[in-house]
Amino acid sequence: MILNNYYNLNSSNTNERIKTLINNLDNGLNLSKDQFLDLLNNFNYELLPYIQDLAFKKRKAVYHDSVYIRGLIEISNYCKNNCYYCGIRKNNDDLERYRYNKNEIYQIVDYAYHNGYKTIVLQGGEDDYYSDDLLIEILTYLRSNYPDLALTLSLGERSYESYYKLYQAGANRYLLRHESASAEHYSKLHPQEMKLTTRINCLNDLKTIGYQTGAGLMVGSPYQTNNDLVDDLLFLQSFQPEMIGIGPYLNHPKTPFKSFNNGDINHVLVIYALARLICPEALIPSTTATSSLASDGRYRALQSGCNVIMINLSLLDKRKNYSLYANKTYVGDESQEYLSLIKADIEKAHLKINFAVGNHITREVDNNE
Ligand code: SF4
Repeated sequence: MILNNYYNLNSSNTNERIKTLINNLDNGLNLSKDQFLDLLNNFNYELLPYIQDLAFKKRKAVYHDSVYIRGLIEISNYCKNNCYYCGIRKNNDDLERYRYNKNEIYQIVDYAYHNGYKTIVLQGGEDDYYSDDLLIEILTYLRSNYPDLALTLSLGERSYESYYKLYQAGANRYLLRHESASAEHYSKLHPQEMKLTTRINCLNDLKTIGYQTGAGLMVGSPYQTNNDLVDDLLFLQSFQPEMIGIGPYLNHPKTPFKSFNNGDINHVLVIYALARLICPEALIPSTTATSSLASDGRYRALQSGCNVIMINLSLLDKRKNYSLYANKTYVGDESQEYLSLIKADIEKAHLKINFAVGNHITREVDNNE
């Protein structure tokens, strides 16, 4: 992401014009492609507190003080894909691969449930080991033993039929970042066999079936321009995902993008705040990638409209191998052992930790719970 004027002072006229665009979003109006581009091209540092303040108030108006806690289990670091930015891509041979069997998953979920978690996220690469039949068995077991638990999946692209069967078996939510809503930019981040149209079709399928659906993007990814980001913002505006995962691009040394720089924390904060204004009701996590980029990233993300934190419940010996990018806080702040640090950040932002199910506001009662 390039905020052209980010570190230069704008004329007061320009600042007023950009503030008007931000105010329009805050008032529930849609922006056009040209208006989003003007906003990004002419946004500068002086305006960050302004947009953060509006985003913070917006999340408070919808979700009050709550920051919802999710328990994240990284069930597999096998993946059949080769996304150019990802540390667990298929062609990274320098990685110890693992996957959990169903009994290991049950044990972690049971631990989480008895420690107060009401949402569990099962996340992994696109790993064919997790067939529909196996996932249905796992979901059926979890749904019958923990009826009040929200079950979120983040397992990549699957067919409509597969998504449908998993929903029928008890899954409530599905996270599938679109990564870039610009077809040209998407093609620079992924091998030829991966298509933006497939990703968008999957997201549409998930919504149609009834999942609370999460999209999302990387900020500062290689080759990203403001025009690409405008496509992302327009997509969020029209699709209105129930969840939005946003984080900086972070470099991984075992990928084709190893020589690209990491994203910029301030740029990520601007996109968090814009996402909150564009989708006031969305559940927006302060992501691990943001905490990995800056030591105060989580606190600043909460100030910018985020209202979810995922806590890593994966087994300690496996976490280091779920290395999507370098220097991940895999044994650090975003894990159960460091819950008190997370709580302190939440309270510093004048918010409250909340272990409730935390559905999207329009789905306070989810049919699958
Ligand atoms: S980003 Fe997802 S789909 Fe792509 S290689 Fe990584 S785990 Fe696989």
